[in-house]
Amino acid sequence: MIGKDGVEQADLLVREGVVADRAPSLGVPVGAHVVDATGCWVGPAFVDLHAHLREPGGEAAETIESGARAAAIGGYSLVVAMANTEPAIDSAALVEYVLSRGSRARVEVAVAGAITVGRRGESLAPMAEMAARGVRLFSDDGDGVQDPAVMRRAMLYAAGLGVRVAEHCEDARLVAGGSMNEGALSSRLGLVGRPAMGEELMVLRDIELARWTGAAIHFLHLSTARSLAMVVAARREGVNVTCEVAPHHFTLDESACADFDPLYKVNPPLRRAQDVAALRAALVRGEVDAVATDHAPHPPESKDLPFDEAPAGVLGLEHAAALTYEALGSEQCDPHRFFDVLSRGPARVARVRHEDFYPRHGGHGGALHVGEDANLVVFDPSSRWVVDRDDLHGRSRNTPYHGRAMRGRVRATIARGVLVVDEGELT
Ligand SMILES: [Zn+2]
Repeated sequence: MIGKDGVEQADLLVREGVVADRAPSLGVPVGAHVVDATGCWVGPAFVDLHAHLREPGGEAAETIESGARAAAIGGYSLVVAMANTEPAIDSAALVEYVLSRGSRARVEVAVAGAITVGRRGESLAPMAEMAARGVRLFSDDGDGVQDPAVMRRAMLYAAGLGVRVAEHCEDARLVAGGSMNEGALSSRLGLVGRPAMGEELMVLRDIELARWTGAAIHFLHLSTARSLAMVVAARREGVNVTCEVAPHHFTLDESACADFDPLYKVNPPLRRAQDVAALRAALVRGEVDAVATDHAPHPPESKDLPFDEAPAGVLGLEHAAALTYEALGSEQCDPHRFFDVLSRGPARVARVRHEDFYPRHGGHGGALHVGEDANLVVFDPSSRWVVDRDDLHGRSRNTPYHGRAMRGRVRATIARGVLVVDEGELT
């Protein structure tokens, strides 16, 4: 069991939605269901800051219900649904719509509200009315907020409301028309590239805006060594900055695009091998607040398009934990670091911890103390398995990891006190 205070071997009793007891050895109460976690890590269930659940508008690819199924299998008790739906989640009514669908799903669903109306980057969305409905993270993800004056205004508002803005860092002009990382390989393949600088300039801009406004900024899916270095330096200087990395960016590099397979097309794009190595090193060093999936389902017909025309994005919820375990060194993986980036860090950024008094969701990323909400995961680090896209639990199949051998698998997930995954299967 991986609590905040250390690793210990113990039994946990979950009753009426909370951790009711914890001791080296507990008797089994009459009628209790036993989850055998021998040899496993038991910790706070994972929190995903970045999931595209596609509802409303993209139900052919995913729904809140199907995305929550994949999340449960992946060990998550809460996912933050991104706002780039059709229509965009840019009003209190749409926030309520997603929250009410989420309340019937297997895991909790929180909402990222759009920063601007329709995610068009022009006028600010009604952030205060969304914040009053419990929104704590605002993002136009899918696109960055291009106009620095709009972003500055958004940050001033966010600082006043005590919420965080989350940026998809890509300068639209610098990455226009690009479908992979810009460099020698994109030239050789004859594809227009998206330069690393397209990301890094926006990271630099937003750090300075956050420094000036005092707002809290979260950087989504950072993909280059330089981006991370700027965030680390800004944090040291006292800027209120957090960041996430996505599993595809720390496991795959641009060479995967050489066969023009659109399964490897993502924004920001897969980068150079040295960027991948830098992301992994930053994870190990504890410089990254969260691993976030950027789970981006697409129906099969859309990924049948040529590379430069296909939509960007890959699935993530069902394999993020195993890929994180591997990136943190497999047998050498520090379980505290593992739960820091998959659970405690993202829960802090999304402000869904017990101590955050989140009005709609609570008690994620906890310490496994008695009295806490029971959002727990049982992760078996010794399990070995192979990804099969036909065994996935969401609606789409666009995983770049089909056929890949994995180490470490979620054996059980408890969300809101309910056992939603047992023996690796949905209950
Ligand atoms: Zn994005």
